[in-house]
Amino acid sequence: MEGGKMRKRVLLDFGLQELKDMVAGYGYPGYRGKQVWDWLYKGAAGMRDMRNLPGDLISRLEEDFVTGMPRIVKKQVSALDGTAKYLVEYDDGSMVECVYLIYRFGRTVCVSSQVGCRMGCSFCASTKGGLVRSLSGGEMLAQVLTVQKDAGERITNVVVMGSGEPMDNFENVVAFIRLLGSEEGLNIGLRHVTVSTCGLVPEIKRLADLKLPITLSVSLHAADDETRLRLMPVARKYKIEEVLEGCRYYIQRTGRRVTFEYALVEGVNDRPGDAEKLAGLLKGMLCNVNLIPVNPVEGSLMRQPDNRRVRTFKRILADRGINATVRREMGRDIAGACGQLKAGYMKE
Ligand code: SAH
Repeated sequence: MEGGKMRKRVLLDFGLQELKDMVAGYGYPGYRGKQVWDWLYKGAAGMRDMRNLPGDLISRLEEDFVTGMPRIVKKQVSALDGTAKYLVEYDDGSMVECVYLIYRFGRTVCVSSQVGCRMGCSFCASTKGGLVRSLSGGEMLAQVLTVQKDAGERITNVVVMGSGEPMDNFENVVAFIRLLGSEEGLNIGLRHVTVSTCGLVPEIKRLADLKLPITLSVSLHAADDETRLRLMPVARKYKIEEVLEGCRYYIQRTGRRVTFEYALVEGVNDRPGDAEKLAGLLKGMLCNVNLIPVNPVEGSLMRQPDNRRVRTFKRILADRGINATVRREMGRDIAGACGQLKAGYMKE
């Protein structure tokens, strides 16, 4: 385990049957496992909250486990659109952000997959301090449960687009996806789950082979390798052509449309020529492009292009048959951009 210190096991990592078996191993009937499960999915923070369990079982569980539920350290709600940003802290003191987004089609939680990140993208706030540790599947699930409980609304959609690189934490992210889909749990349709990656090609292929009906989102951010390398160190490892080959494999295996994310940075990747090159790369592929005017992070010189330039970029793609949308900015009034809440808190 990263960090060296042994941590207690996380109850939210267990499936229902595993929980029943574990409780049976302690000498209790299986239905006690179901009771634990129900408390967890109601968002119980600790074993003491599980009021219908025998006291000696609570003590045994407390000795060996934590629930995995974090505590809310800070919350900011947008007066504009109801977007809520949470800074949460796990039992070991690690903090991540998660976001609650209200859309016409449902209620979405944006989940962090790691504490920090080691991918080093130049425009991203989450990678500044490097990787602290990966989160387990149950700890990611706990972000959804925390937001669902606090917002008092059923969560229908999940995007793994918070801090961290999900494909650098492959097994735990897959475990998380399976927990989300569990019928006795949140029962979220996997078609309503999106995983975003900076483009780790072997893991994209591994994910493809699992044939989960999720949406894969790939952060491309450039149409040639030199420009991509200015923004993303991972471009040294995988050429754009290899990333696209991985995506084609994904589409072929799953039949699912891939989304490409493209953060527009003034003077770096926003020229009409970039749009033309991008259209050439993606021609004939089952995909969408999501254009995101870059959110400036502290200490970075990157600027958003003006609206006219964004519209031109989009039109060039559309004229060449590539479906593109410009991501609507949510929570503009609450440091909505990636990693800003944690960065601000750490400074305080
Ligand atoms: N590691 C994953 C998830 C990262 S967050 C990935 O790379 O895809 C999800 C998206 O937000 C990614 O496309 C990421 O590149 C983008 N992003 C990060 N910081 C940003 C910023 N300051 N402005 C705009 N987009 C940003």
